[in-house]
Amino acid sequence: MKDLTPPPASGCRSTPVLKERGQREVFCGLTGIIWLHRKMQDAFFLVVGSRTCAHLLQSAAGVMIFAEPRFGTAILEETDLAGMADAHDELDREVARLLARRPDIRQLFLVGSCPSEVIKIDLARAAERLTQVHAPHVRVLNYSGSGIETTFTQGEDACLAAMVPALKETDARELLLVGALPDVVEDQMVALLSEMGIDNIRLLPARRIDDTTAIGANTVFALTQPFLGDTHAALERRGAHHISAPFPFGEEGTTAWLQAIAAEFAVPEDVFDQATAAPRARARKAIAQAADVLDGKSVFFFPDSQLEIPLARFLTRECGMTAVEVGSPYIHDALHGPDLDLLSAGPNISEGQDVDLQLERVRAARPDLTVCGLGLANPLEAEGLATKWAIELVFTPVHFYEQAGDLAALFSRPLRRKMRLRLEAAE
Ligand code: SF4
Repeated sequence: MKDLTPPPASGCRSTPVLKERGQREVFCGLTGIIWLHRKMQDAFFLVVGSRTCAHLLQSAAGVMIFAEPRFGTAILEETDLAGMADAHDELDREVARLLARRPDIRQLFLVGSCPSEVIKIDLARAAERLTQVHAPHVRVLNYSGSGIETTFTQGEDACLAAMVPALKETDARELLLVGALPDVVEDQMVALLSEMGIDNIRLLPARRIDDTTAIGANTVFALTQPFLGDTHAALERRGAHHISAPFPFGEEGTTAWLQAIAAEFAVPEDVFDQATAAPRARARKAIAQAADVLDGKSVFFFPDSQLEIPLARFLTRECGMTAVEVGSPYIHDALHGPDLDLLSAGPNISEGQDVDLQLERVRAARPDLTVCGLGLANPLEAEGLATKWAIELVFTPVHFYEQAGDLAALFSRPLRRKMRLRLEAAE
């Protein structure tokens, strides 16, 4: 089954990038806790922050009210902010109380926020101190989720990058799959690779700390998310080798991602075809059903989730759309290069944001669909533009073959709704 659409004569990898460093409209990295705490079942995320941080988490993850949450906020009071109290002593007491009450916690993440960074609480030192106190039962790590970073998916990247130095050393030739995916999607991914005979698979993050993930010079790793630049660098510093590939969105992206891994492990072509033929056919059918309304339409991406480049590749190559602008908070050649190779030259490629200038461009272009953050979506809808919230793409299972139709449907839904509203208005 070797009928992939050929790459374009000219892709976007060498297209000059419009770099903008102005005002941004994005969520902060604390948002990642919402999906990370579901993934890591023995972890706890303790945000060292303000009441604003606590409100953000509670409102975004309100569904957890019936269960013991695996995140919380150590609130910095005014006395802390004024440097009048020793925040470290208070943090130690808070952590001791938490761990005494919750013996199920095996990994504790101290998560920095804007206030903790402004008053310069050294959470790395706190994590080292607390690890000494609470090891071996609990491992304490720290990372920053503050809004001083550029965008919300950096929270997961910072969390995983913080885990890498703590991984054990191994000489084994293993495949490390990196990125937090919903369990059901992760199971599909592992099953596909196992069918090809690739069994020495490790996951980062693992569901539990006891699932020993190790790393060394014989480790090869593949990223499942395009926003893991710092984790990529941390893994390479440990000697692991990156398998570069387009990201597994849509039928084509999934096949190319699997092919890159199959080539690394010398999987015979017939074995690869046998493992992928049926799910590929299902993915194509599902995309065709969901994407008819996308064909011939234009799309404009504001920089938000860092999924923009692979999604632009998916929408243009598998759904018949035309990209006007593809904005991404960061463009990292080692991560995004293979997707840029497949994206036909033509769209404006931008990195970073100057929101007023970008709004001017979207108003001039009037695309059929605009993918942007929540804060921009309503005003643009009021101006008659159909929008898709970028954050939904991170909260919804969209990777690999079985979700390819759902991914196309996420983009077609706002267009169908707009068509329905037009029809109702005309009646
Ligand atoms: S980390 Fe910063 S941006 Fe995020 S909720 Fe706290 S104060 Fe707001």
